[in-house]
Amino acid sequence: MSAVNPRIAILGMHLESNAFAPISTENDFRQSCYFEGEAMLAEAAKPAPNMPAEIPGFIEVMNAGGPWQPVPIIIAAVEPGGPAEQSFVDATLARMRTLLDAAGPFDAIYICNHGAMTASASEDPDGALYAMARGVAGPKLPLLSTVDLHANISQRMFDSADCILSYRTNPHVDRRERGCEAATLMRRLLAGERWEKNMIRMPIKPPSVTLLTARGAYADMINEGQRHIAPDLPVVSILGGFVFGDVREGGITILTYGRGEKPKALAQQLAEFAWGQRERFRMTLTPLTEAIARAAQAGRNGTRTAVCLADVADNPGGGGRGNTTDILEGLLAERVEDVLLGNFVDAQAAARFHAAGVGATVCVTLNEACADAFGRAVPIEATVLALSQGTVNGRRGIYAGRSVDLGLAAAIRVGGLTMIVCSRRIQCADPMFLETFGLDISKFATLVVKSRGHFRAGFDTWYGDDRIVEVDAGGLTSPVLENFAWKRMPRPVWPLDLETRWDGAALN
Ligand SMILES: [Zn+2]
Repeated sequence: MSAVNPRIAILGMHLESNAFAPISTENDFRQSCYFEGEAMLAEAAKPAPNMPAEIPGFIEVMNAGGPWQPVPIIIAAVEPGGPAEQSFVDATLARMRTLLDAAGPFDAIYICNHGAMTASASEDPDGALYAMARGVAGPKLPLLSTVDLHANISQRMFDSADCILSYRTNPHVDRRERGCEAATLMRRLLAGERWEKNMIRMPIKPPSVTLLTARGAYADMINEGQRHIAPDLPVVSILGGFVFGDVREGGITILTYGRGEKPKALAQQLAEFAWGQRERFRMTLTPLTEAIARAAQAGRNGTRTAVCLADVADNPGGGGRGNTTDILEGLLAERVEDVLLGNFVDAQAAARFHAAGVGATVCVTLNEACADAFGRAVPIEATVLALSQGTVNGRRGIYAGRSVDLGLAAAIRVGGLTMIVCSRRIQCADPMFLETFGLDISKFATLVVKSRGHFRAGFDTWYGDDRIVEVDAGGLTSPVLENFAWKRMPRPVWPLDLETRWDGAALN
C-alpha cells in the first residue's frame, strides 16, 4: 500500500479570470510567478516565497510527516485578470505533461490551483489540467487539490480529483494552513484511504462582496460544514464561485468527502440552507454621492479614521484595472479633505512622478494612455511626496510575510487627497502599501481602497466593519450584476434573476 518514500508531483496554475477584463498574457504570468522544477523548491524555501502559500505549507507538513520526495513540476500564478492567453495555457499544460512523463512514476499528485481560470478559447482550463494530471496518474493514484473558495468547480475537476480542499477564509488568510491540511490528507490517501465524493452545485452566483467568512450566510455555511468534520468525513469544501468568470459551471458548490450516509446528507443540508438564505447573497451598496458626502463630513470634522470607502467595483484582485475614477473625481469635485487613497494604477503617471522627483509639483493626466468608460482621463496638479521602486514586504492580512511588487510607485498630494500611484495592478490590502511611503494611516479622516474584501484583514487595526462603506461605483468587478452582458452563465440564476427556482435535487 503505502510507499516508504513516496514521490509526489507538485504543480499548479493560478488565475481567477474575469470575463470582462483584458487577456492575462504569458508575460503577465512570467512577471508574476512562474517556476519550473528545482527552482520551485528553492523559492518555496525562502522566508517570503513568491508563490501561492499553499505549496510551502504543503512541503512543510509533508517533511514533518516522514520521508517523501517532492517532484516539482511547474507553478504559475498571476493576479486575477482576464481569461488566460490560450497559447500559454496550451503550452504550459503540454510542458507539465512532458515534465510529468519524464519524472514519473509517482505515488501521488498535488495540484495547487485557484480554480476559476478561463482561457481565451476554452472555458475550463482548470478541468483540462486536472484531467491531464489524472491521465498521467492513472485511475488509482491519489490526486489531491487545493483551490480558492472563489473557484468554479467543473465536472471535470470534480471527477478527476480524489479530493478538492478549498480555503475557508475570505480574506484568504488560511492559504498556507490549507496547504498544510492538504499534506495531512495526502498522507491518508497514500496510506490507502479513499472517500466517496459528493457535489451539489446551486443556481446561486453571488457577488463576491457577499462571500465574507467573518459573518453572513456564507460564513454560516462554512462553520456548519466544519462542525461535522470527523474521521469518516474529513473534507467539506464550500465554494462561493467567481461570478465574473461567466462560466456555465460554477456558483455556490458544496463538496463533501467521506464514508457512509453522513457526507451526502450534509451536502444536501448545506445546499438547502444556502437556498433558504439566498436573500443574504444579494447586496446593497452605498450610492457614490452618499459615500463622498460621508468622506467630506469626516474631513470637515477632522475625525481620524472615520470612514473607509471600499471601491469594490475596481478590485484588481478580481480583474479590475485599478484605475477607475468615479470615487477619485467625486472627492476632487467636492474638495474633500484629509483623504488617503491606495492604490491607483497608472505606470505612465508613476514614471512621470519619478522623473519629477520628491518635492516637485507637476501637471499630469491620470489614465492618459488608457482612458476608458470606467477610468476616465483626469488632469491633476500633484506634488510628489515620496517615491518607491515598489518592493513591499507585507505585514498584515493576505500579504503578510509575502514580498509584493507595486512597480515604480509614488505618493502624491492632490488638493485634500494623498494618493499612491503605482505601476503594477494589485489590490490595496496591506498597510505597508501606504506605510512604505512614510504615511500614517491613523492621521487621515478617510481611507479609500481599491479592493473588494481582502483589505479588511490588512486595515482592521483602524477600520472595523462598522466604518467600512462599500461604494456603488463603476468598474469591472461591480457587485451590481445587472451591469454586465453575460454570455455563458446559465439563466435564470440567483440573485440576477429573482424568479430563479431550485428543485432541491442534488445536481450531481
Ligand atoms: Zn479568492
